[in-house]
This record gives sequence, C-alpha cells and structure tokens, in this order.
Amino acid sequence: MDSLQNLVHDCDQIPRAGVSILSGAAYFEIENLGWCLFVERLATEDDLEKNHHLEEIGGTIRTTAIEIRYCPYCGVELHDAGSRSSPDEFGYFVHIDSSGWLSRRR
Ligand SMILES: [Zn+2]
Repeated sequence: MDSLQNLVHDCDQIPRAGVSILSGAAYFEIENLGWCLFVERLATEDDLEKNHHLEEIGGTIRTTAIEIRYCPYCGVELHDAGSRSSPDEFGYFVHIDSSGWLSRRR
C-alpha cells in the first residue's frame, strides 16, 4: 500500500543510530498523526548483563517519539504521512519503555 518512502524520512543529515523520522500514523496506527522524530535508547553489552529481558545488543530499551512538521536536521518540510493534524491536535508525543519485554520491532 504505502511505499517505504512515505513511511521513513530518508535523511543524510540524521546524526547517529537511534534517531529516525517515521510516519507516526503507520507506526502507531493512529489516524491523523503526522511525522514523528524517534529517539531510541539502544541496548549495549552492559545493559544485557543487567537486564535479562533484553535479548540482543542494539535492541530498543526506550523510545521517545515527538510529532514534527519539519526535519530538525535537514530542515525540509515533511509531507504525506497520514493526514495533517489540526493545530489543536498537533504535538503528540509518547515515551515507550521496552525494557521489561521484547521490543516488537526487532
Ligand atoms: Zn531530514
């Protein structure tokens, strides 16, 4: 249905692993949600030793997602991810703690 290009902002300015810009509507399955900046805390070897729920290095421990209209790295305006929220509804954000269970994304 949607091509990958409509679900992931492919940006060569994004600084490091663990930061990405994805379609919030597709990721969260929430209609009217626009693009979201995802910041993920990824598991290190040390984390695996301390938390037996974690399965592999690089797995997601915590994710913060914030709805955005422009890419903060390259400055481009982001279009076409779900429907645009009204100004009153814009600004969704969420913190997801995956440390107690296996992340469904990996
Ligand atoms: Zn960008």
